[in-house]
This record gives sequence, C-alpha cells and structure tokens, in this order.
Amino acid sequence: MLISEIFYSIQGEGRLTGVPSVFIRTSGCNLRCKWCDTPYASWKPEGENLSIADILSKIAAHPARHIVLTGGEPMIAPGIHELADALRATNYHITIETAGTIPRAGIACDLASISPKLSNSTPSPEQIDAAWITRHESTRTRPDILRDWVSFDASQLKFVYSGPRDLDEIQKLISDIGTPIAPSDILLMPEGINEKALAERQKELLEICLVNGYRFCDRLHIRLFGNSKGT
Ligand code: SF4
Repeated sequence: MLISEIFYSIQGEGRLTGVPSVFIRTSGCNLRCKWCDTPYASWKPEGENLSIADILSKIAAHPARHIVLTGGEPMIAPGIHELADALRATNYHITIETAGTIPRAGIACDLASISPKLSNSTPSPEQIDAAWITRHESTRTRPDILRDWVSFDASQLKFVYSGPRDLDEIQKLISDIGTPIAPSDILLMPEGINEKALAERQKELLEICLVNGYRFCDRLHIRLFGNSKGT
C-alpha cells in the first residue's frame, strides 16, 4: 500500500479535535481539488510501499489509541479494508476521512468523517487538463454513496466553506442525500491554509452556523502548526 506519511499529532478538525492520533495518509486520490493541501498525496502522489505489518509496527511506536485513515482518498487504496480490519483487531479507534465518493462497503470504522467537495474545489484549466476537470466534476458528489456513509452510526459531514454561494450548494446536497442528518453533524470549516485566511471567513461562517444549527469546525492544526507536512 502506497503510504505518503505516518505521523503522530492531534486531530485538528471535527468532533475529535484535540485528540492525540496517529495519521496514516494513503497516497492517491480520485479527485483534484484546486485548493488541495496535500498535493503530495493527490496531484502528485508520492510515498513508500508498506505492508500492513510495517504500518502496524510504525503506529505502535506512538502512545495513541486513535488512528485516522486519511489521504488522498483512503478508500481507493488497495488493501484499505484489510488495514482497517487489522486496526480493529488491535482495538484502535478508527476515523476514516473520505470525500464520500467510494462506497463504504462495510469497512471497519468508528467515525466516518465525510468531506464532500463543492464546486469551489473544481480545478481551473490553468491547473490541469480538461479531462481531469470533467472527471473531478462527475465524481466529486455522489448523493447515493453519501447516503450510505451518513447512515453509519457515527458520522460527520464536513464542508469547506469559501463564500456565500457555498451555503445553497451545501443545503441542496443535503436535500439530495435525502436522509435526516442532525444539523450538529454538519460541520462547516473555513477554507484557508493560514490564520489570516481562516480569520477572513470566520465571522460570516459563525453566523451561518448559529442560524442553521450547524457545527463550526475550526482547523486547529493550521493555527498550531501552519500548513506543514506531518502535522
Ligand atoms: S479529495 Fe482531498 S486529497 Fe483529494 S484532491 Fe481533494 S482535498 Fe486533495
């Protein structure tokens, strides 16, 4: 399995914010978000081929019970189900961070952290060729697959918010999913990979969350460490 990085840090987003966790970042993604903050695991996937035994050995070096399977898109990584089974057998708490474009297919998981990509993610022709733009657009939201992910016992829907038009898109997608979702399980986080950008969108986003009952989602790792690899 191509692994971009394995590191020990705190969870910076979502309901487990602040929890010490080992992050296993698989390399490779079926999307090409224009603002992707891990291009080394998506646009230009790099990493090391590790066996499940190698991965278990690396994470055992850290005093954490929480594991985050992230990417890239971890659900396209060959062997991801076997890795999740091995983590479950070792009694780890497993969070899967996914864009929700690949079926869950019963993967072992304790928290599904689903981050559907809005149209603000679509790359520009200056960034990538037309074929990839078409592929990104046709893949980025799959209400049928999202319906299955949000029906999981513990799930959170996390959206990157970059401006007012995103709200309509978020609410349309939630309607298309067609399953009751508690507003407190809908998380909105500001787009931005530095404190200044986060601050610019924060006030507007707070108001939207208060009006709709959505959860404001900070990006604590950006505030603590900046946009740096391994955090
Ligand atoms: S889905 Fe995630 S990893 Fe893939 S391109 Fe988008 S932001 Fe990057």
